Amino acid sequence: MNHQSDILIVGAGITGLMAAQALTQAGRQVALVDKGRSVGGRLATRRIGPGLADHGAQFFTVRTPAFASQVQQWEAARLVFRWATGWSDGSIAGPVVDGHPRYAARGGMNHLAKTLAAELTAAGASIHLDVKLTAISAHEGGWRADAEQGDVYTAATLILTAPVPQALALLDAGAVVLQPGQRAALETVRYAPCLCGMAWVEGAVQLPEPGAVQKQDAPIAWVADNRRKGISPAAQVITFHGNPVWSAAHYNDSDEQVGMSFTEELKRWAFGPYELREMQVKRWRYALPTTLYPQPFLRGADLPPLYFGGDAFATPRIEGAVSSGLAIAADINGA
Ligand SMILES: Cc1cc2nc3c(=O)[nH]c(=O)nc-3n(C[C@H](O)[C@H](O)[C@H](O)COP(=O)(O)OP(=O)(O)OC[C@H]3O[C@@H](n4cnc5c(N)ncnc54)[C@H](O)[C@@H]3O)c2cc1C
Repeated sequence: MNHQSDILIVGAGITGLMAAQALTQAGRQVALVDKGRSVGGRLATRRIGPGLADHGAQFFTVRTPAFASQVQQWEAARLVFRWATGWSDGSIAGPVVDGHPRYAARGGMNHLAKTLAAELTAAGASIHLDVKLTAISAHEGGWRADAEQGDVYTAATLILTAPVPQALALLDAGAVVLQPGQRAALETVRYAPCLCGMAWVEGAVQLPEPGAVQKQDAPIAWVADNRRKGISPAAQVITFHGNPVWSAAHYNDSDEQVGMSFTEELKRWAFGPYELREMQVKRWRYALPTTLYPQPFLRGADLPPLYFGGDAFATPRIEGAVSSGLAIAADINGA
């Protein structure tokens, strides 16, 4: 089947969703395509037993006035809440409170993405999930994207929000040649992986206030209780994140081996008998950018309108992804 739109956005993570929102509001006809079964990308929430776990991004911070006003709207709409102003490092000293609010999404981080997606669909955008693109090529003054399933997506303007190595691979498969300086700049972008565990636990496991521990230099750098966070009322589900070095070293270990490390970490937080009902492991190859492109987006030179954006552009994390998506939309809307 052939799908045509004015603007094609590859990736329905927060970058793609925010770009789509601003473009749709400006009257553009937008299609989003994502290989995932849900929107959200790294804003990911998973069922485990009767509970829920955020297993990608855990929370977000706000540094710029522009993002603060966006977050105020989400807070007023009861989409996000202030979870904490700092985390325990596991010592008896209590949480290191620095006054900066950390926000999380009600119902899990993925729920924020799903709500934005529902608004987009209501506003006329089309969202295609479970569609893995395999190649993107220049086509009649615009773009053509081919999906594994055989569907074809054509558009005048293309926005790539997949992690940069994945975006470049799509263009390579379609024989698109970028201007050499731009290609070289994009190839410097790097990401760290993250090994994640989710444990459904019954019994005496208790994390310090506010239900999360952050120890950047420890192999398992983040441990959080999704029930205390408020997103998993029916079960205690603990999320674990390995730090970048540990995650890279163990990336190809079996789920069982990785799960054993998380099970060991769980023991630290037990103060009595408990039962581990289930452990799931998730691998994030491109979890967090470590070398960034210096601007909020890159516009391809000497090609039909083409934009690269995401959390590796100028500012990392969710805040950076949102500003990148909005900056791309502003460039297109201003054009
Ligand atoms: C474990 C972990 C912990 C994190 N913790 C935090 C945190 O606490 N705070 C914070 O602010 N940020 C955190 N982050 C980072 C945050 O999640 C990201 O910065 C943000 O979600 C990036 O959004 P994005 O839209 O740019 O990319 P993504 O969410 O990765 O979206 C890109 C999308 O492109 C799609 N895609 C890729 N290739 C194809 C293809 N061939 N065809 C179709 N679709 C494709 C993917 O499926 C994906 O949905 C964390 C991330 C991880 C993984």
